[in-house]
Amino acid sequence: MERVLLRYGDLTLKGKNQKLFTKRVNELIKEKLQDFDVDYEFKHDRVYVILKDTPHEKVLQQLQYVTGLYSYSLIHKCKKDIEVIAKEAITHLVKETLGVKTTFKVETKRADKTFPMTSQDFSIELSKMILRQSPDLVVDVKNPDLTLDVEIREEAAYFYVGSIKGMGGYPIGIGGKGLLLLSGGIDSPVAGYLAMKKGLELECIHFESTPLTSIESVQKTIDICERLARYCPNNQIKLHLVPFEALHAAILAHVPDPYIITVLRRMMYRIASTWMRSLHLQSLVNGESLGQVASQTIESLDTISAVTDALILRPLLTYDKIDIMKISREIATYSISVRPFEDCCTIYVPKSPAIRPSKRLAEVYEHQFEYLELLQGCIKGMKTITIHANQSFRLDQLGLTVEEALNETN
Ligand code: ATP
Ligand code: MG
Repeated sequence: MERVLLRYGDLTLKGKNQKLFTKRVNELIKEKLQDFDVDYEFKHDRVYVILKDTPHEKVLQQLQYVTGLYSYSLIHKCKKDIEVIAKEAITHLVKETLGVKTTFKVETKRADKTFPMTSQDFSIELSKMILRQSPDLVVDVKNPDLTLDVEIREEAAYFYVGSIKGMGGYPIGIGGKGLLLLSGGIDSPVAGYLAMKKGLELECIHFESTPLTSIESVQKTIDICERLARYCPNNQIKLHLVPFEALHAAILAHVPDPYIITVLRRMMYRIASTWMRSLHLQSLVNGESLGQVASQTIESLDTISAVTDALILRPLLTYDKIDIMKISREIATYSISVRPFEDCCTIYVPKSPAIRPSKRLAEVYEHQFEYLELLQGCIKGMKTITIHANQSFRLDQLGLTVEEALNETN
């Protein structure tokens, strides 16, 4: 039977925290593999998943969603016979090298002390057999490209070649809780992913301006949540939808062009902070990256975040766009983010946004209309939905506004 060996992530944590860490990763592993017929063997620094009849591809696929998992390897079981092990191991080694000259070493552990060769002798003998049969493989015991690990146990021999990198970081849930400001763009899903990778458990908030903007732009956010849910506890994530249209329209009507985005953002932060506190979450998480656009200069960030004393986390602050795009492809949100539907921030793009907006002027413009009542309306009208991994949740086609569409789903 095949097995997968799983290694934990950043175990620099000490004492009680380390216990909490492994317990949480173990729970997550079980959640991600809940649909499969597998068994587990939990050791203090590793886990074995015994695959029974489950194909390994499916299990390996799901393991990429486990936060706090450092790496994993597919282990092959075979007869305790050096000829057999050599033959099978070579097939796997050759598959890994793809015909390129590669250095390797063999590392043997002999749990079965009745086996007639010592670990050292076995490693040397096996290396020789491999060298004889595969011209691209060269031994290097100090700094090999690949390691062939062999374990000889009573019932059989097990071996694996190299390992697949896991997410790393900390298991979700041990790093506190945050409210992710999720747009349909490229950045905020990546910011959410990076925050989760550091152990933060998230709920999402999205400001939607239907019918001023199309319901498809809300659908984008829902579809992104489906991707993020794959990393979450119980494979689900909450999405809070804020009916932002009335406030949005008032801003467009009363605020001078250069300050529209600044004021729009300040309103979002006021609402998000209030909601964060009522949900008992501890931080706001967003996709801001320093200098990307006018609203993300240091002066803009300062003027925007001045409306709240909530802790704001910006996982992408120092990232280049190209690196953000790379991650968004890896987590499969990119193709959703680039769907061409406008959200509240793109429907009307100011001609000359203020690059260094001042707090004083932002306040002056905000007092040109009764925004408090509109803010309350946003909070009152908030709708919460739960999105599950691998399940589609459709609102488009059901109405022109979120409210209409949600009524249809009930
Ligand atoms: P993104 O790709 O995440 O939209 P961006 O580079 O396009 O980011 P902005 O549109 O300026 O940047 O938005 C900055 C951040 O503000 C976003 O990353 C997101 O966290 C938040 N944000 C913007 N629009 C919305 C929205 N409609 N709902 C919720 N959060 C939003
Ligand atoms: Mg955006």
